[in-house]
Amino acid sequence: MASISRRYSQFFIPTIKEIPAEAEIVSHQLMLRAGMIRKLAAGIYTYLPYGLLAIKNTESIVREEMDRAGAIELLLPGVQPGDLWMESGRWDYYGPELLRFQDRHKRESCLGPTHEEVITDLARREIHSYKQLPITLYQIQTKFRDEIRPRFGIMRAREFIMKDAYSFDIDEEGANLSYGKMYAAYEAIFKRCGLKFRAVEADTGPIGGSFSHEFMVLSDSGEDDIVSCQDCKYASNLEKAEVKIRESGSTSIEKEEDLQIVDTPEMRTIDEVTKFLSIGPEKLVKTLIYQTEQGPIAALVRGDHELNETKLRNVLNVQELTMADPETVFNVTGAPMGFAGAIGLKVRVLADFAIKEMKNMVMGANKNDKHVLNVNEGRDFQVEQYADLRMITSSDLCPRCGGKLIFGKGIEVGQVFKLGTKYSTALKANFLDKNGRETPIIMGCYGIGIGRVVAAIIEQSRDENGIIFPVSISPFEVTILPLEMHESSVRKVAENLYQHLSNLGLAVFLDDRDERPGVKLKDADLLGIPVRAAVSLRTLKTDSIEIKLRSKPDLRLLSINKTPEAIKEVVQSLYDSLK
Ligand code: ATP
Ligand code: MG
Repeated sequence: MASISRRYSQFFIPTIKEIPAEAEIVSHQLMLRAGMIRKLAAGIYTYLPYGLLAIKNTESIVREEMDRAGAIELLLPGVQPGDLWMESGRWDYYGPELLRFQDRHKRESCLGPTHEEVITDLARREIHSYKQLPITLYQIQTKFRDEIRPRFGIMRAREFIMKDAYSFDIDEEGANLSYGKMYAAYEAIFKRCGLKFRAVEADTGPIGGSFSHEFMVLSDSGEDDIVSCQDCKYASNLEKAEVKIRESGSTSIEKEEDLQIVDTPEMRTIDEVTKFLSIGPEKLVKTLIYQTEQGPIAALVRGDHELNETKLRNVLNVQELTMADPETVFNVTGAPMGFAGAIGLKVRVLADFAIKEMKNMVMGANKNDKHVLNVNEGRDFQVEQYADLRMITSSDLCPRCGGKLIFGKGIEVGQVFKLGTKYSTALKANFLDKNGRETPIIMGCYGIGIGRVVAAIIEQSRDENGIIFPVSISPFEVTILPLEMHESSVRKVAENLYQHLSNLGLAVFLDDRDERPGVKLKDADLLGIPVRAAVSLRTLKTDSIEIKLRSKPDLRLLSINKTPEAIKEVVQSLYDSLK
């Protein structure tokens, strides 16, 4: 991935000694300290030369693997006409993350947060026949999303660089093949980036489509919760993780008791009610009222379970889903918040599968300060639909193999979606099949956050002194430290090594500053270049150069004339370890 060699004195790396207060996570702190990025405004960053080199190396890996997988690069515009978004229906749906403006002719426009509309428009204009398919197109480009909480530097920015690819196929089989190729390319990319990652099943969110995987870098500072199986390959985003339905247990033989209304003054929360009534939360039912574009609905989950809004949204097939305000709750239930129950509701009632197993439940009585005991479905209220509506918990088992589940955090660096015909139908991107029939193209889309990958690498690969770059991403492959610049013998050996290694095709960084050895060694640790060659009066006493890997503590003295070839071999072995 070699770029070119540079001298520190003629380069631009404004490093920072102190930990910047504005940065919450270590990768963000290190990127600021190592002079890789600077903030211009909230979520908007300048890539300084050292940071840009890491970005470019990441882009090169992505490009190589995309090209290898048969995808073809193009570049789409960043500014997009609002009309296209109205045609796809996302103008209203996308919300305030879409930065909108009018041009001088008062035409609605936006800054592209993603490019399904634009690429589908291209496809409908240029692709007419099955003979032109399949095809996968990709670009590496700056996106803009007006994120509500930009943070962690370029990890969650408003302006950021993304690789986005789009596949076009004639049938399901072909679409699955294209998806599989991109999936495999992603595995190759993240491996070459030296990342520890896992592909997890994911919800399709505002991009839509039928199925999806996210590529998660395992890290405690990740914003995503992931769950994986200890025994099989199952891994999922927590919001997507299916709960395995258990066969009905002993509860089903319990006798139905008579309804009984009890006073529960000011007892609104699960905790308050269960303590007051001396019952376990698994006897209680939470009745949650939600507002949707189809009107209010009620969703029931067991007292010790948590409703999963993503699952509820998907079951209801609605776009808007918000907790109802107190007024709506009152209109729907006839009671203030905290006393809602399922009896007598005039709205749709959905319930989690676990409710089906319950007998003699406790729930709000739809009257102020009252709960009701011994409620039974069928006799006292009806459920329109049972579904998997809750968050998976640590007492659940793997939905695939029944094994034990492990919970952790991840950074989403990429996502692949099987879109189906969502956009081709909306925008009428059709082709003529073999029989001359007009058919919508089947699409997939595939994103990688380039900046987020670099940040995630640093988050995963560092120590208390700084970054530990994998050789494939590092701005330089080797750094040379002449520790006494005022000594001509030291300068000369370092300069020769610099020339020699550069001629061997390595990207070398020569710290030719007139700084104290301690400063140079500290900065080398901060910058994280994988191989360090130190030249000093001490090493020259034995006609040698001291070699150290950033990732290991061992020091090795090599004779001056053997050093260049030895370093080249070391660099090559570092690349080999990423295969
Ligand atoms: P997230 O859930 O983190 O907001 P997303 O699901 O909205 O991400 P996609 O639409 O799948 O993201 O975009 C593809 C990739 O672009 C993501 O996997 C991520 O690596 C990157 N990305 C998305 N949003 C940002 C952002 N605000 N800053 C930097 N990278 C981003
Ligand atoms: Mg995503």
